[in-house]
Amino acid sequence: MADYVQRVLDNVRAKNPNEPEFLQAVEEVVTSMAPLFAKESKYEENAILERIVIPERTIMFRVAWTDDKGKIQVNNGYRIQFNSAIGPYKGGIRLHPSVNLSILKFLGFEQIFKNSLTGLAIGGAKGGSDFDPKGKSDAEIMRFCQAFMTELVNHIGALIDVPAGDIGTGAREIGYLYGQYKRLTHKYEGVLTGKGLKWGGSLARTEATGFGNVYFADNMLKAVGNGLEGKTAAVSGSGNVAIYTVKKLYQLGAKPVTVSDSRGSIYQPNGINLEVLQQVKEQERASLTRYAELCKDATYIPVADYAAGEHPVWNFGTDLAFPSATQNEVSLADAKNLLSKGCVLVSEGANMPSTLDATRAFLDAGICYGPAKCANAGGVATSQLEMEQNAGMTSWTFDEVDNKLKGIMAGIFKAAHDTAEEFGQPGNYVMGGNIAGFRKVADSMIEQGVM
Ligand code: NDP
Repeated sequence: MADYVQRVLDNVRAKNPNEPEFLQAVEEVVTSMAPLFAKESKYEENAILERIVIPERTIMFRVAWTDDKGKIQVNNGYRIQFNSAIGPYKGGIRLHPSVNLSILKFLGFEQIFKNSLTGLAIGGAKGGSDFDPKGKSDAEIMRFCQAFMTELVNHIGALIDVPAGDIGTGAREIGYLYGQYKRLTHKYEGVLTGKGLKWGGSLARTEATGFGNVYFADNMLKAVGNGLEGKTAAVSGSGNVAIYTVKKLYQLGAKPVTVSDSRGSIYQPNGINLEVLQQVKEQERASLTRYAELCKDATYIPVADYAAGEHPVWNFGTDLAFPSATQNEVSLADAKNLLSKGCVLVSEGANMPSTLDATRAFLDAGICYGPAKCANAGGVATSQLEMEQNAGMTSWTFDEVDNKLKGIMAGIFKAAHDTAEEFGQPGNYVMGGNIAGFRKVADSMIEQGVM
């Protein structure tokens, strides 16, 4: 059966030669599942791997809009509807200049297994644009979002495809996208998640990815008789996921000492000041240089001072690490820095933040390692809870949603944990998570026939 994995991988490499992030995601998933294919032949007989690596539909479109000076700007828009075997397509919209087909295909592919792991009925998708929200006025953001939705509207719906936020897409952008959807369709329905609380949003959705990641980390530590209390933590990023990771770490007795953005990193041994971080990032939308101005006990390290191939936040000897910025932000050198200085847990808030060799280093070291598909699934799970509230025309309290989130993260942990044990590799949540997520989707595909 190793032949099966190799054959599919060779084919995916040959067909997608210019898509390194997508190839990395496929390699990580399919190689980790070799023990499953050795045990069960039905997946090869039904050509499941061959099918699951190709999106059901890839939509690419032009987004033309006018900037504040009246100049016409043009961006690429995408929606990858990867797999709908277990429910409507679901996945975020990324707005960042680096966005291309490879990045969105890797994100959409991972989303299939992540969504399945939540135990909820949601398929996998991802979308976005190479539009850069940085430095744009609110009016420009609005005109871009309206132009983007004018095409996307043809492909989504509350029971078809339900997009959400991701890098560069927060509450403001979801608001403009939703307004345009409503205007074009005359429908008030739960077609986007991460909505404002006054118009269909769910309490605790903003917090869910960061909170969920810390709940997952807590589950991993408890399984080895350890805990969060008194531990120091490195967090990267300073966006939605990072901020609420910092908040929950404090609530559960740990001390986050780093954050970062695309221009630099903060190290603050006394602990990150959450209030200042939220003011700088959520209200002022400023760089972390502003945070350093406001927190005199914080050290700011600009990107120009980083050692080649290393990110400084992983090199301060913390007990725990929560990558929460972007893909491939933890290199092998970073992994070695973390491990050699006693890190006992890495739990991934960002999608695919560790390179393949860094992932292998964490698994070989036998530390608690929570891959993104398990650890950051709290965001999409709570999006589904938002859909449920919209469908029932009701809203739940913060504690109700948070308790459901806690239960879902415990369920994901159990699925990954038990599956890793079933296949003789206890504690390998990469393999356990991938196989547990894959089986439900693959079995559904078999039952639904060849398509
Ligand atoms: P935000 O846009 O809120 O924040 C992203 C943060 O990461 C910012 O601090 C940003 O810095 C930094 N960053 C982004 N790209 C780069 C880059 N290329 N190099 C260095 N720093 C970078 O996004 P989120 O917090 O929502 O998302 C962070 C990660 O979590 C992503 O991988 C996303 O896919 C994943 N995720 C998010 C979920 C959610 O619910 N939001 C759910 C599951 C996963 P700067 O502001 O300077 O650009």
